[in-house]
Amino acid sequence: MADYDVDLFVIGAGSGGVRASRIAAGHGAKVAIAEEYRVGGTCVIRGCVPKKLLVYGAHFAEDLADARRFGWKVPDCEFDWKTLRDNVLAEVSRVSSIYGETLANNKVELIQERAIVAGPHAVKLASGRTVTAKYILIATGAKPDIPDIPGKTYGITSNEAFHLDELPKRIVIAGAGYIANEFAGIFHEFGSQVTLINRTDVILRGYDEQIRDRLLQISSGKGIDFKFHAEIQKIEKKEDGSLLVHVANHDPLPCDVVMFATGRRPLTDLGLETADVALNDKGAIKVDDDNKSTCDSIYAVGDVTDRIQLTPVAIREGQAFADTIFGNKPHRVDYDNVPSAVFSHPPMAGVGLTESRARKKYGSVKVFTSDFRAMKNVLAGRNERALYKMVVHPDTDVVLGLHMIGPDAPEILQAAAIAVKAGLTKQAFDDTIALHPTMAEELVLMR
Ligand code: FAD
Repeated sequence: MADYDVDLFVIGAGSGGVRASRIAAGHGAKVAIAEEYRVGGTCVIRGCVPKKLLVYGAHFAEDLADARRFGWKVPDCEFDWKTLRDNVLAEVSRVSSIYGETLANNKVELIQERAIVAGPHAVKLASGRTVTAKYILIATGAKPDIPDIPGKTYGITSNEAFHLDELPKRIVIAGAGYIANEFAGIFHEFGSQVTLINRTDVILRGYDEQIRDRLLQISSGKGIDFKFHAEIQKIEKKEDGSLLVHVANHDPLPCDVVMFATGRRPLTDLGLETADVALNDKGAIKVDDDNKSTCDSIYAVGDVTDRIQLTPVAIREGQAFADTIFGNKPHRVDYDNVPSAVFSHPPMAGVGLTESRARKKYGSVKVFTSDFRAMKNVLAGRNERALYKMVVHPDTDVVLGLHMIGPDAPEILQAAAIAVKAGLTKQAFDDTIALHPTMAEELVLMR
């Protein structure tokens, strides 16, 4: 070990990198971590955390309207974007500093600089300094992938959405994944006129068909304009500062802001060739089941490996890496039944196989659904139906997948995901007495 400056050098202080470095240091390793932007990474600085806070802020639009039906005299309310934006950014700074303290408390040296690989055991910092390490962990994450079209520089991505000077009156969002749909919901609730443009006619590819169809129906009903087979071709800036978005098969769309939510690309511009670290066919760092790259001393975790681009997955990978290499406790991440959510209005959540994937795998499957209007929505006069769906193995009765859309769906699904992960049967759900009156009781009442 004495031959190297540190035992572990981590590039990127996001979800995966911070977890790996503090656990490795806890196992007694000498650890340094480089961060070129802000400690906390995408999730804390410009992902899950500020996004969820905006989702909470946005949902007050519906809560305030519904409150009147519950007897509250709510005067006409105005929304002030700058207040929410600044409060959210302050909270982001608070959480980021906690991450910094965690690193310091675990004696991880934080180097606030860009770092790249300079060989199997060497990292080069932006300042020109080289640090040698027995192991290098790449945890650089991913960045928005923007289509190469004329006028692309007039557009923003989710990175900039958190910093807007003012709320756009009209916003066009390109993309149809979870980030596109979440921001469509956020801006719509704040009062922007939202158009979501998508090059195919499928939103939220990979999520259960019936659930995503329900979101499309509810979102369209609320006034979000979906344009399909509408590939973005060009953005033009007009003299008054507004934008005109040219899309295939549709009239040009005038707007104030264009947001690209067209996918995220692993950040691999890191001198990887100096250590023969190979990329896979998706442009992500190729790793084995123990997160090892094609170079024996270099590992990678999180979005840069493009397995499942979610924070809890990056954290688990960082933990498994550190325990395996430095803690003499080898273990691997189990990618089966990873729950995920879309924080739309209403939100969606799911775990396990969708109906179509289950049919592909098992031929026939049993499907149970509950299509209902939440009690609160009934009194509020909100014509918005929730849908819960359970996909069950045809012979063993094991629950293969659970998918839902409705108020608090992600909160409910996290608990139910434990049962799915544990391999429980539909009968086990049926044997559980309902907790009444809740929405979640539908999970044990599906017949
Ligand atoms: P990151 O967290 O991206 O961290 C990588 C870090 O490396 C960054 O801080 C970066 O600045 C730094 N870096 C990069 N290159 C270098 C270099 N050369 N030198 C030094 N530092 C470098 N996931 C969820 O689970 N739930 C959600 O609700 C959710 N919402 C999201 C919303 C948005 C808008 C976005 C964009 C993402 C969201 N995600 C969500 C995904 C989640 O943020 C990522 O999966 C997670 O952050 C990945 O962690 P990571 O450690 O791989 O990378």
